Amino acid sequence: MPLKLPIYMDHHATTPVAPEVFEAMRPYFLEHFGNAASRNHAFGWAAEGAVETARAQVARLIGCKPIEVVFTSGATESDNLALKGVAYAYRDKGTHLVTSQIEHHAVLDTCKRLEKEGFHVTYVPVGRDGIVDPSAVARAITPKTILVSIMLANNEVGTIQPLAEIGRMCRERGVLLHSDAVQGVGKIPAGVDELHVDLLSLTAHKLYGPKGVGALYVRMEKPRVRLVPQLDGGGHEKGRRSGTLNVPGIVGLGKACELAGRVMPEETAALTALRERLRSNLFLRLDHIHLNGHPTRRLPGNLNVSFDFVDGEALLMSLKEIAVSAGSACTSASIEASHVLRAMGLGEALAHASIRFGLGRGNTEEEVDYVCNRLVEEVTRLRAMGA
Ligand code: PLP
Repeated sequence: MPLKLPIYMDHHATTPVAPEVFEAMRPYFLEHFGNAASRNHAFGWAAEGAVETARAQVARLIGCKPIEVVFTSGATESDNLALKGVAYAYRDKGTHLVTSQIEHHAVLDTCKRLEKEGFHVTYVPVGRDGIVDPSAVARAITPKTILVSIMLANNEVGTIQPLAEIGRMCRERGVLLHSDAVQGVGKIPAGVDELHVDLLSLTAHKLYGPKGVGALYVRMEKPRVRLVPQLDGGGHEKGRRSGTLNVPGIVGLGKACELAGRVMPEETAALTALRERLRSNLFLRLDHIHLNGHPTRRLPGNLNVSFDFVDGEALLMSLKEIAVSAGSACTSASIEASHVLRAMGLGEALAHASIRFGLGRGNTEEEVDYVCNRLVEEVTRLRAMGA
């Protein structure tokens, strides 16, 4: 089959909706358009039934009870609800939270907001390999700590955190643990009991579901987590999140979870093989390149590399037919180096010269080889130009 351009290798940013997921959603836009809260007619019952099926599908993937799943508009909302909801509910007990320096902005900026409101937050550093040290988290906990929030897998360098170990330690100390598990759910096992987490955020669009829908797992027993809702309204989701449910989106999330659970073992093997093909060929053919993140404790589809003597932006601009991400984020005034790479100890130059590859369902060996050839070509050209 001829290679089709452009090539998508940015699956940490978002994923395409799987055809099976799209087909499952379609009837809930058209014939079954009812409001899941309409308890007195067949349209409402059909919608409610579909939502409950999806709740069970999500619960099965993360090993919890369906009632512990709260549907939201995505992980940004789930993270906000987890952190603010717990902070406000447990304020009498303490005002200290612990997180890591490499969290997504949905967690970091929520922490910043809480700091403005009088809470205190410790941002635990990470090692050069991007792994959070459980003993550093343990050391950060004080008698006033009410919540620890550590992501399952990092969205830039793909590092998988020792969450079960952190969870066991938090449980012993009676501190709640939240995890932004967006990048891990559907890619690696994420059972809430195995990880000892009390709250967990996930989002559909990172696992071949639609954008704008996600969920927050909230443990109901041992311990029962209390949350102050962040949206006031009709008391949907047992009062935990008001707002008319996005029925087609929720159906899509459920189906995507079911599918991910089914294909995870083969997909992990296939993506790891593709990732290693890309990594080994790049490292064989180019000098002065560096792997960012842990060599093995990383998401199957993640590769993050920095190139000496090359500007990352210039490199991306020269690879317009390839969709990947740079380790820098454009803000209105400047281009800022990734806070994740900086926390891992990379200097400005290398942090700016990094590329994140997010391999996913549908990528092929031919695509990997094309991307590798083009990268070698452009890095060599830019280095020769001194760009
Ligand atoms: N957390 C992580 C680790 C992410 O990668 C993302 C998405 O980029 C989010 C949170 C935000 O998710 P959403 O787009 O569903 O709000």
